[in-house]
Amino acid sequence: MKIDRKFNTLSFNEYLNYIDNHKQYCDFNTLGLYRSIFENENTSLDEKIQIREFANKHFEKTFEFLQIKDPWTYIKVKTLGLELTNGDKDELWRQIRKNQELILKKKRIKHQNFGEYSKHNCGYETCPMNGIMIKQGSFMAEYEMCIGNINKYAQKQKSERRKSERKSEKSIIKNELDLE
Ligand SMILES: [Zn+2]
Repeated sequence: MKIDRKFNTLSFNEYLNYIDNHKQYCDFNTLGLYRSIFENENTSLDEKIQIREFANKHFEKTFEFLQIKDPWTYIKVKTLGLELTNGDKDELWRQIRKNQELILKKKRIKHQNFGEYSKHNCGYETCPMNGIMIKQGSFMAEYEMCIGNINKYAQKQKSERRKSERKSEKSIIKNELDLE
């Protein structure tokens, strides 16, 4: 059988039903399931948390492996509804780094191909993501949590603000000249 629907369109009860009967569906994608939890607009925060708890009863190992495969999804799902301080974020990355090492050590015995992963190194010593193993390419956290990228973004904002301030100054001068 096929689900043939996007997880992020499911209702709370549909989630529970599909998770419970996941073995019957050949297109059941566990990573897609976890990703959809925070993207889904039909479920309340409280329901999302319940869906996560229910999913973890069935797929706890997959969820733990997300720390390597897709740490950003892992963080978003794990911290649903929590307000994180910077200290909390640092602690979270420290945990992920530790768990990554453990998982990779275990996996390396079986596979040898973690070449597509590399360690995050943006050059900022205080970046909470330093040393995190990242799959090349798609990784949202690099944009939202990396100190290097946050600083780059702030600088871009600043220079754009300066540019638009200069522009409005110019138009004020122009308006004054026009009035004369
Ligand atoms: Zn960084």
